[in-house]
Amino acid sequence: TAADGVRVSATSADLDARAHRTLPGGVNSNVRLAAPKLYFERGEGARLYDVDGNEYIDYLLGQGPNILGHAPAKLQADVAAAVSSGMLFGAQHEAEVRAAERVVEILGWPDMVRFGVSGTESVQAALRLARAATGKRRFIRFEGQYHGWLDNTLANWDAEGNALVAGAGQIADYLRDFVPTPWNDLAAVRERLETHDDIAAIITEPIMLNAGSIPPEDGYLQGLRALADEFGVVLIFDEVITGFRVGLGGAAERYGVTPDLAVYGKAIAAGWPVSALAGRRDLMERFGTGEVNHSGTFNASVMATAAVLSATGILQETSPYARMEEYGRSLQELIRAAAAKHDLPLHVQGVPMAFHVSFSGGRTLKDNRDILACDAPRYAALSRELIRHGVWVAARGVWYISAAHSDAELADTEERVDRAFAAHAGS
Ligand code: PMP
Repeated sequence: TAADGVRVSATSADLDARAHRTLPGGVNSNVRLAAPKLYFERGEGARLYDVDGNEYIDYLLGQGPNILGHAPAKLQADVAAAVSSGMLFGAQHEAEVRAAERVVEILGWPDMVRFGVSGTESVQAALRLARAATGKRRFIRFEGQYHGWLDNTLANWDAEGNALVAGAGQIADYLRDFVPTPWNDLAAVRERLETHDDIAAIITEPIMLNAGSIPPEDGYLQGLRALADEFGVVLIFDEVITGFRVGLGGAAERYGVTPDLAVYGKAIAAGWPVSALAGRRDLMERFGTGEVNHSGTFNASVMATAAVLSATGILQETSPYARMEEYGRSLQELIRAAAAKHDLPLHVQGVPMAFHVSFSGGRTLKDNRDILACDAPRYAALSRELIRHGVWVAARGVWYISAAHSDAELADTEERVDRAFAAHAGS
């Protein structure tokens, strides 16, 4: 750490140079290309430590999963104990039944669960079920939302709402599988349903969190539910970020709207790689009869089920959500106050457990076109300043809260944000 408190990361830079020889771009996920190439040695609670001995307060949380903070002792111990008896049997084990029962019990509305490894693949399972159930191919999805990196979900969005391939090699034809639709606009959804007779599903992040943090307007999710029923299409909530984060029952519980299928990932296992598709029996049983295929070598491994049982058990017992919400609110206020002090036109909005900070020109953001109009390069520069001052945040403006964030982190964050904003304002 340099004398002024700004991080220097010489060892990270060395490792990054070395990494480029054997890892494309020096990374294993293209999402990480945009971030400063830091190498972390360990995480503990809400803090991260890099290879140069710098400490950071973590508001990225592994892109959301680490809802209990880093290396929560009970979770680590429970998973370690479970895997000491083996990992994969190519058959069933008792914990997968308990894990499914637990998820069904917590969520309340679904009858059945299929575990997977990543959100990307469980989304595909949901779409396939919807196609099988309706005999139709296409799905309505929303501008700016993310449902994984495969050809039929990945897109870059332009300001007119067009979906474009996100890179070379992606098959553009698959983009025709979805009907791009602006978020928070029920009339647009109705119009799509009335003009297309080949819609199998509506898939939505119930809170838009891959572009900004945009809650559904009052009645919006209820409206989607009603339209799905009216037109006989499957309503899929992609709760990969919101599930077990915005409340134990995710956004479905928070807004009191029941989807037909929902996809979970990230926080469901508090950092271990697990996803789940949950849904109504008549849909999910299509896997059980073999009518619809869904497979995976690593599905419901001993590690995965132990992690789900432990993480959800801890979340049930400790119920950290009210505290996280309060922390998130305080953090939002602190950022607003620091922005005012340093005369930065920052806009803060969204649910406290996953909110968004942007240079929006003072506007409230309500869909992806509003997001695209923000000054993203300026926020990315601010995020680098925050990181230099020991606040680990995403360049795209989302701030995640964990149960491990406490008063000490809030106080340290206040001081670091103040210095980072001062540096940005002076640069
Ligand atoms: N859906 C949503 C809403 C997501 O945020 C993500 C990941 N950020 C995914 C799906 C894909 O999940 P994964 O990265 O585990 O494949």
